[in-house]
Amino acid sequence: MTSKITPRIEINLEKIRHNTKVLKKLYGEKGIQISGVVKGVCANLEVARTLVEAGITSLADSKIENIRKMKMAGLKSKLILLRTPALSEVQQVVEFADISMNTELEIIRALSAEARRQNKIHSIIIMVEMGDLREGILPKDAPAFIREVLRLPGIELAGIGTNFACFGGVVPTVKKMQEFSNLVNEIQKEFQIKLPIVSGGNSANYTWLMNTHDAGSVNNIRLGESILLGRDPVSGKVIPGLYPDAFYFVAEVIESKLKPSVPSGIRGRNAFGERISFEDHGLMRRAIVGVGRQDVLVSGLSPVLPVEIIGSSSDHIILNTKQIHLKPGEEVAFFLNYGALLSVMTSPYVYKTYTRQTSKRYNSLTRTPA
Ligand SMILES: *Cc1c(COP(=O)(O)O)cnc(C)c1O
Repeated sequence: MTSKITPRIEINLEKIRHNTKVLKKLYGEKGIQISGVVKGVCANLEVARTLVEAGITSLADSKIENIRKMKMAGLKSKLILLRTPALSEVQQVVEFADISMNTELEIIRALSAEARRQNKIHSIIIMVEMGDLREGILPKDAPAFIREVLRLPGIELAGIGTNFACFGGVVPTVKKMQEFSNLVNEIQKEFQIKLPIVSGGNSANYTWLMNTHDAGSVNNIRLGESILLGRDPVSGKVIPGLYPDAFYFVAEVIESKLKPSVPSGIRGRNAFGERISFEDHGLMRRAIVGVGRQDVLVSGLSPVLPVEIIGSSSDHIILNTKQIHLKPGEEVAFFLNYGALLSVMTSPYVYKTYTRQTSKRYNSLTRTPA
C-alpha cells in the first residue's frame, strides 16, 4: 500500500451517509430536524453532497468563505452561517447565506441595510445565552432585542437558537432545555409569532435527546461531530449504530531506528518553547512519520497500531513503535478527534481521498487496510 500518496486523509462517504441517516431518524422521531454542520471538514463538497443525499436540507458552517463555496457548488440545501457575521462580512453574508446567526443589533441593522441594497430578505436566527458563555443575548434582554429586530426592513426572524458545551462545557440537561423551550414559548406568545426554527444545540444534545420524550418547542439541532465522528462529545462515547471511523489519517515512515530514549547534551527549550522531560527506558524502536504540527493537531491523533506518539515538531511525528518493526515507506494510520480532523481538512499539504466501501478499516494486527 505504499504506492499511494501521503500524508492523506481517507474519507469514507458511505459511513458518513450512514451516520447521517441514523441520526436524522433518531432526531426525526422526536420532531427535530437536523442541520448538517460541515465546518469540521472545511465544508468539503463531497461530504456536503453526501449529507444532502442522506436527506439533510440545511447545511451550516461558521465561515462565510465556506458558505460561498457551497453556494457556488449549487448544493440543494439551505445555507446557514453558524457564527455571527463580522460587520465587514455583511455584504457577502446577505449575498451567499440564506440564514445567519446573530447576537448584535448593530450587525443586524447592517444586515438590514445591506438586504435592502441587494433587494433581498435576509433571515436570521437570534442566539440566546443559556450558560455556556460563548455567543448569545441574555434571556432577560430577549424581549427588547426581538422587538427591535421585528421592526427592521429586509430582515426576517427565522428563529431562536442556543448552544451548549462549546466554551464553558455546560451540558444541555433536561432542565436547561426546558428553560430554553419556555423562554421561546414566552417570546412567541408575547409577540404573537410562530418561529419556524427553534434550534436547541449541537452534538452535545445527544443524551438529552435520548432522555426526553417531549422536545418542547425545539425543532432543530445542528450536528457536526456526531455525524462525522459518530460520537457524543460530552461522554466521548461512540453512539450505538454509528461509524466512528469515517476518517483515517495516513502518514508514511521516513526514518526508523533503534535510538536512546533520552536526549544527550545540554538541553534548553525546543522549537516550540517547551521543556520536555524524558524517562530512561534504554534503547527504543523509534520511527518518524513525515507530517507534523503544521498539518495536524498531533494531540488529537491516536495510532491504530499499538504504537505510541512520543512527540512532534512542525514536520515530524516521532513514534515509539515498541515491538513493531516499521520500515521507511510503510504507512501508519491514525484515528482523529474533532480538532485533528479540523486541522487536517484545513491543511493544503494533506491529500483528501474518498472511498465508499464500509468494509474498509485499518486492522491493528496486520497493519494493512482490511
Ligand atoms: C460548531 C457548531 C455546531 C456543531 O457542533 P458539533 O459539536 O460539531 O455538533 C453547532 N452550532 C454552532 C453554533 C457551532 O459553532
